[in-house]
Amino acid sequence: MEREKIDIDVVFVGGGPAGIAGAIHLAKIIKSRNNGQLNVSIAVLEKAREPGSQLLSGAVIDPRALQELLPDRWLEAPFEGKVTKEKEKIVYLTKQSHFALPIIPPPLRNEGYYVGSIVKIVKWLSEIAEEEGVDIFCEFPAKEPIIKDGAVIGIRTSDRGVDKKGRKKPNFEPGVDILTKVVVITDGARGNITKIVDDKFGLSLSSNPQVYAIGIKEIWRTKNTVLQPGAVIHTMGYPLNDLIGGGFIYGMKDNLISIGLVVSLEYSNPTIDPYLEFQKFKLHPFIKNMLLDGELIEYGAKTIPEGGWWSIPRVYGDGFLIAGDAGGFLNNQRLKGIHLAMKTGMLAAETVALALEKNDFRGEILASYYRKIADSWVKDELWESRNFHQMLHRGTFLAGMHSILGKIFRGRAFGLFDRLPTEAGHKLFKKLDEVEKVEYNLEFDGKLTYDRLTGVFKAGITHDEDQPIHLLVQDPSICIERCSVEFGNPCEKFCPAGVYEIVEDDGQKRLQINASNCVHCKTCDIIDPYQIIDWVPPEGGSGPNYGKM
Ligand code: SF4
Repeated sequence: MEREKIDIDVVFVGGGPAGIAGAIHLAKIIKSRNNGQLNVSIAVLEKAREPGSQLLSGAVIDPRALQELLPDRWLEAPFEGKVTKEKEKIVYLTKQSHFALPIIPPPLRNEGYYVGSIVKIVKWLSEIAEEEGVDIFCEFPAKEPIIKDGAVIGIRTSDRGVDKKGRKKPNFEPGVDILTKVVVITDGARGNITKIVDDKFGLSLSSNPQVYAIGIKEIWRTKNTVLQPGAVIHTMGYPLNDLIGGGFIYGMKDNLISIGLVVSLEYSNPTIDPYLEFQKFKLHPFIKNMLLDGELIEYGAKTIPEGGWWSIPRVYGDGFLIAGDAGGFLNNQRLKGIHLAMKTGMLAAETVALALEKNDFRGEILASYYRKIADSWVKDELWESRNFHQMLHRGTFLAGMHSILGKIFRGRAFGLFDRLPTEAGHKLFKKLDEVEKVEYNLEFDGKLTYDRLTGVFKAGITHDEDQPIHLLVQDPSICIERCSVEFGNPCEKFCPAGVYEIVEDDGQKRLQINASNCVHCKTCDIIDPYQIIDWVPPEGGSGPNYGKM
C-alpha cells in the first residue's frame, strides 16, 4: 500500500502548551505580515484523541507567557482560581504531624498566579489555534523524523490497524509522510522524536545529563470545601524523607482538589516504589483529613525534566527546533514549566517566521532561536536556578539557602561554582545486596488508597489490545537472568501503572508487559537500569484520556 505524502510548511510535533502556543504565535505573526491572510500551512500532530487529553501538570500557572501570547484574551482562560497570599503555604510533614513554615522562599511564592488544569487550558488554547487557521491532527502519533542529507525534512506518523503480531488488519492504514520546511519538536519530557533526533545529531554532548522526576497525581472531589479554588499547599518531609521530592495539594472549582507527589528519579534503592510512596502520602493525617469521604475522580502520572539550564541540549539543527519539556525548559526551583514551555514555543515560532522570510531552514539560520532564548526572560529565570537541582543532592537545607540567596549569588553554587554536574538517574541504582529492602506493608482500603489497576481505570485509558506492544524491551532475557538478581526488577515498582510483571509459567519466569495499562509517563524509558526499554507511541488515540488533570 502506497504511503501518502503530505506537504505542510511547519509542523509542531506534540499538542502540549509549547506546541499549541507556538502554532498560535506563528499564525498571528504570519497574518500580521499578510493583511490577515495565513499563507503558510501550520499543523500540530497530537497522539491523543482530543487536544490536551494526555497532558498532566500540577498546576500553578505563571501567566506571563499567556499574557504575551493573548494580551486581550488571556483572562478568558479556564483557570480554577487565583492564588492569594492567604491561600498559600508550605507544610512540613513529620510521620504523624505537620507544621507550616513561617516563610515561603521567594521562588516558591505564587501570589497572583493561577491554579489550573493543563488539560482544560490546552483544550481552550487549541480552539484558539484552530480559529487562527492551525490544523490540529489528533490521533496522529509521530513515529520518526524523516531525515535527508543530515536535515530533518518531515515526520512519519504511525501506522494504524496492525495486530499484536505485526500483521495488517482489515482497517490497516499506513502512516503518512508529512514533508515540511521545519519541524518544531514539542513532544514533552523524554519525547520519542526528541530522543531520536538527540541521538542522531548528538544534541546533548555538551550538556549535563537530563534528570527527571515522576509526578503522580489524583483529582478528588471532597465532601465539603476543604480548599478554596486557588489554594496552594506544598509539602516537604514525609513520606520522602531520604528522597528528593515533595507533595502538592491545590484547590480547584466544584470541591475538586488536585493532589500529587513528585519523586525524583535519582534514588539508589531499587526497591523504592513511587506509587506506594504516594499512597503513604495520602494516609498522612494532614492529607487524609482533607480526603475523608471524598471520591477519587482521576489518576495519572508524568515525568518532569528537572536538570535545568545545564541539561538543555542543543535545541536547533538543520530543519528542526526543540521547545518545552522536550528541551528541558522547566524551572525546578519554582516547580513550574508551563510558562517556559509556552514561551519557548513562541520563540521557536518567531525563529520559524524569520526562516520562512529567508526561505532558509538550515541550522545556522535556526540557531537564532538559541539567541532569542538567551535574550529572553527564559534564560534569566533558568540561569538563576541553574544549580538548584544539583544542590538538592547536598540536602534540602543547603538547597533552600541557595534558593533564598539566589539573587545575591546569581545562581552560583555556594556563591562559587557556575556549573555543578548531574548524573543520569538510571546510573544511581545500587545492587540489591547493597541496600535494605523497603517494606511498604500497605493494604489498599478502596476509600483512600487504591491499587494500580484502579488508578489505571481512573486514567480513562483506551487501548486496543490487538496492537503491537509499544514498550520495546530490547532483550527480555536480561530482565530474568540479570535484573531479577541484581536489582530485583525495579520496573515492577517504578511503573505507576502496573505495566511490567515478572510472572511464572511452568516454573519459568518471564516478563509480562501489560501495555494497555500504560499512562505514557516515560519513567521506564528513563530509569530502567540497563537502558533497554524504548517507549514508542501506540496506535493513535490509545492511552490515558484525562479531563481535569
Ligand atoms: Fe510509564 Fe513506562 Fe509504565 Fe507506561 S510502561 S506507565 S511509560 S513506566
